Amino acid sequence: MPGARDGGADEPREVIVIGSGPAGFTAALYAARAELCPLVLCGEAFQGGALATTTEVENYPGFPEGVQGPELMDRMRAQAERFGAETLERDVVTVELTGPVKRLTDSRGAVHRARAVIVATGAGHRRLGLPREDELAGHGVSWCATCDGFFFRGQDLVVVGGGDTALEEACFLSRYARSVTVVHRRPELRASRVMRRRALVDPGITFLLEHEVVELRGATSLTGVVARSVRTGGTVTLPVTGLFEAIGHIPRSELFAGVLDRDENGYLRVEPGSTRTAVPGVFAAGDVADHVYRQAVTAAGSGCAAALDAERYLAALG
Ligand code: FAD
Repeated sequence: MPGARDGGADEPREVIVIGSGPAGFTAALYAARAELCPLVLCGEAFQGGALATTTEVENYPGFPEGVQGPELMDRMRAQAERFGAETLERDVVTVELTGPVKRLTDSRGAVHRARAVIVATGAGHRRLGLPREDELAGHGVSWCATCDGFFFRGQDLVVVGGGDTALEEACFLSRYARSVTVVHRRPELRASRVMRRRALVDPGITFLLEHEVVELRGATSLTGVVARSVRTGGTVTLPVTGLFEAIGHIPRSELFAGVLDRDENGYLRVEPGSTRTAVPGVFAAGDVADHVYRQAVTAAGSGCAAALDAERYLAALG
């Protein structure tokens, strides 16, 4: 769609969105409906974001029967495109964000310019790095109890990790599961006192400390895990059908190191109550800036907020 507003030869675009998850496509939808002709740089590896890698999504509003993650993301993309959002399956590899016109270079060397940029690059889950982890992902191995816990009703489960997230997941899962074993490599739990107390009094949760999971068993879905003592080297096999990895997230913010403010864990910092970063015209939405909620619907909500913030910023520029 050529023209002054969409980055013809001389004029920068109004808005570029980096990322094609729920935050990115929702930002694009709102920006497109505001006639800001957004370009979405979707990324090459994870088009459609984290949900494109999963199966059933049961907690996204509007789908009472549930929806497959890839289908939900195709729908979000189609909805944004219907209103004029353009999409390009490329990674952003360098950014120059200061100044009134931002410059982004993509993985094929093309330079894209815009007055406003919405960063929606998401966050990855830290993984155990075990053989067969990829094959069993979605077939017993999960990184999100809120998302998948419901599928494991009445089953025996393991949660790996010793921080707040791990214990929150364990407490959440023990409502559905027959048993939950928390496996943690250290002798003590890192989690806050309140979370520790809550988990320790939960009769559905047991702890296997000073152990690490070293093997996943099961041909097509998980049937057990092997845990090894970090002190003695002895192993124990736990016949579980679900393994939840809660060993941390890695926000995809490396690209913005030294350019945008990041917290000690790498999450982009935004002004409280908004999606504005400290750099004028740059907004952050979704999991790259959210270490608390990390859900598709909250990512979509903050994508909407980022587009509205960008629209106001552009309107003020005149
Ligand atoms: P993401 O969805 O992670 O998208 C980030 C996007 O940024 C990707 O498209 C990626 O390619 C792109 N990107 C990254 N770097 C670059 C770059 N340099 N250049 C261009 N593009 C880039 N939540 C729920 O609410 N319900 C569920 O049932 C549910 N199930 C889940 C199952 C799994 C297996 C996983 C992993 C997560 C699940 N979640 C679920 C969480 C949910 O997927 C995330 O909270 C949500 O996707 C975050 O959205 P986002 O747009 O912030 O980031």
